[in-house]
Amino acid sequence: MKYFSTRGGRERLSFEETVLTGLAPDGGLYIPEHIPLSLRAGKQNGKTTPSSTSELRALAEKSYSTFRHPQITPLKKLGEKTYVLELFHGPTFAFKDVALQLLGNLFEFFLLRRNARKAAGEKPERLTVVGATSGDTGSAAIYGLRNKADISIFILHPKGRVSPIQEAQMTTVTDANVHNLAVNGTFDDCQDIVKALFADRAFNAAHRLGAVNSINWARILAQTVYYFLSYFQLRAQLGGAADATRMGLPMDRLVVATNANDILARFWKSGAYEKVDSTDVGDAGVVAPAHGASDGKQTSVGGVKETLSPAMDILVSSNFERLLWYLAYEGAAGEPHGASKVEEAGSIVDGWMKKVKSDGRVQVPIAVVELARRDFLAERISDQQTLETIRYYFESEPSYVADPHTAVGLCAARIIATHNAPSTVQIVLSTAHPAKFSEAVTRALESSAHFNFERDVLPDEFKGLLDRERRVIDVEAPEVELVKKVIERFAESEQAAGGAGSV
Ligand SMILES: *Cc1c(COP(=O)(O)O)cnc(C)c1O
Repeated sequence: MKYFSTRGGRERLSFEETVLTGLAPDGGLYIPEHIPLSLRAGKQNGKTTPSSTSELRALAEKSYSTFRHPQITPLKKLGEKTYVLELFHGPTFAFKDVALQLLGNLFEFFLLRRNARKAAGEKPERLTVVGATSGDTGSAAIYGLRNKADISIFILHPKGRVSPIQEAQMTTVTDANVHNLAVNGTFDDCQDIVKALFADRAFNAAHRLGAVNSINWARILAQTVYYFLSYFQLRAQLGGAADATRMGLPMDRLVVATNANDILARFWKSGAYEKVDSTDVGDAGVVAPAHGASDGKQTSVGGVKETLSPAMDILVSSNFERLLWYLAYEGAAGEPHGASKVEEAGSIVDGWMKKVKSDGRVQVPIAVVELARRDFLAERISDQQTLETIRYYFESEPSYVADPHTAVGLCAARIIATHNAPSTVQIVLSTAHPAKFSEAVTRALESSAHFNFERDVLPDEFKGLLDRERRVIDVEAPEVELVKKVIERFAESEQAAGGAGSV
């Protein structure tokens, strides 16, 4: 199986190259030439017979052995037609572990294999992973890459601006190849520095920079699996279901649930993909964010609104480009599976993304929006609704404590259920453990007499975490050169365990 960019072109990469490259040089995302696998007979449109099946199985087993639950991602029943698929039983208590545990092992596997093929005396390949985080991605990446051969990881976070639990999760990992940089600046400063490093050809070539953010194909690959797992778990209880999608999963539709940062909900409404809502007239029912102003007004940083579900506070949704490609492909003229149709889809997406870059928005044809609506629904959920939903499920039978991100999904599901056929079952993806977002959960439930955070929510793993030994490098100013110095310093002597320091 080969992979190509959503922006077109003739480049075709192997799986290994795709995973190690991350983002395509033309700015596009990599997608596979075929989507294999089907649960339905007669819908086979690809083969899944890599020569390395047993190696892949071993990597998967290693990756998910770090999960605390025997079912890895258990499906729990909350109501007659409502289930949650808990994706947070990995090392950092959020769903990013599902992908990043595997990605870390894939990186290591490929590097070890490449280095084993090198002649004696030839310089081994190393990967230097650099990323910026506002909390969740950084910790999942660190836990995915800690102690991996031939890989160093440098994670930049805005000093004092990530939650105490998230900061402790990152900085208490003291493996020699893990470097936390506390940057005296904002998350955007951190992201700008990382972008500048990737754009610096000489530096990038010298250190072979690698990315762990959500554009990496391995993340998609790992995350397709749990949709199937949830179906198998559900079927074990219910029996067969109807309809089918691209990979043959019998599913009616996917629901996109957003918070006030609703670029996707707006797309499904209007077909406009635009960073800033040109029709925005303020956000009724918004409450103060956990880390923001407490005057009841929603704060906005560079257009991103701060909400109670901070891991979804984004302006653009990078992976959406992959869906756009499939929509463009289906809408394109030409023979099915013909090379010309593939090329046409690439150039259509390239045109759309260029327009987003130049004008801040693109309006796709109505036929494309209709195709998108066939497979997806979208709902935007306010902070107020998020808090109410946490309360609703806590007071329900069985009582369930949802984290604010999961609550956004649960709330969207409840709204959509009113239009569903009565037989439709809903599975909500639960993306984080409630203890990770204690402020929102406590705020929702503090008035409830029978709620006790420590007793009902706090996992043993978090107890004492704040007091553990930390290793963090302070970066006194948000300057690329200072960060480069840190990376260079450790690159020279990666094997010698570096201690805490300051630049
Ligand atoms: C990262 C994250 C999200 C957003 O996931 P994407 O796949 O990047 O859209 C949602 N919830 C939690 C808890 C997260 O950590």
